[in-house]
Amino acid sequence: MRVVVDRARCEGHGLCEEAAAQLMHLDDEGELVLDREEVEGADAALAQAAARVCPVAALRVE
Ligand code: SF4
Repeated sequence: MRVVVDRARCEGHGLCEEAAAQLMHLDDEGELVLDREEVEGADAALAQAAARVCPVAALRVE
C-alpha cells in the first residue's frame, strides 16, 4: 500500500507523526516528510491510523 499526502490540505498539525512516527515526520519548517511511502502489514495499519487522526483529511493510504 502507498501513503499519499495532499500537500494543498496539509496544515502541519503533526498528529499523523504522533500516530506513526516510524513513517513520517515534520521537518524544521513544519512540512510533512514521508520517510516511507510503501507500507505493508503493521506499517500499513499505522499509516491508516495516521490518516484517521489527520484533522483535515490530508493523508490517504491506497
Ligand atoms: S495530521 Fe494531517 S495536516 Fe497534520 S501534518 Fe499530518 S497530514 Fe498534515
